[in-house]
Amino acid sequence: MAEPTRRLFLALWPEPALAGRLQAVSAEAFKVCGGRQMRVKTLHLTLVFLGDVPESRIPALREAMGRIQGRPFELAVNRLGYWKHNRIVWGGCSEQPAALVQLVSDIRRQLVALGLPGGADAFSPHITLLRKARPAGELPPMPTLAWPVCEWVLMESCQSAAGADYRRLAAWPLS
Ligand code: ATP
Ligand code: MG
Repeated sequence: MAEPTRRLFLALWPEPALAGRLQAVSAEAFKVCGGRQMRVKTLHLTLVFLGDVPESRIPALREAMGRIQGRPFELAVNRLGYWKHNRIVWGGCSEQPAALVQLVSDIRRQLVALGLPGGADAFSPHITLLRKARPAGELPPMPTLAWPVCEWVLMESCQSAAGADYRRLAAWPLS
């Protein structure tokens, strides 16, 4: 019998106050782009998507992630964008802090060493706000939202007819 797997990803998760501010931006964008707003509790920034990982690999994955010594950083979420190819409206940053780029590169290196898919694509950090949105002539103005990042998390994505629910499996501090 095939081994059970879990659908996993590594992410940054905003505190409720910041998630609330992002949701306010999402509500403004919804007025012009329609589509489906992400629920406030599900807002996040994916660092690396792992996809289906055999359960037996999860302890080694957690151990490898625990070896990473990341530095805290602040993200200035100051852009609102639309991607035609997947019809999402997203919040993002005009600049990527060096500590964020380093964190993703360290994660990928550990994943390669484990023989797990580490996301070879370019890293495009974004927070999905709306799905199935239509392109708007002009998106609403985006305030600059300061996001002090002091941890990153391993999440499981549990998919159902109602959409994905996320479960936090582990977190590592940035210090
Ligand atoms: P659903 O797919 O049910 O609409 P979702 O996209 O939020 O919901 P997942 O597909 O499990 O749930 O994705 C979890 C996270 O990983 C999301 O941030 C998603 O954008 C990201 N992700 C999913 N697939 C990929 C991929 N192939 N490459 C990069 N990131 C991905
Ligand atoms: Mg998906």
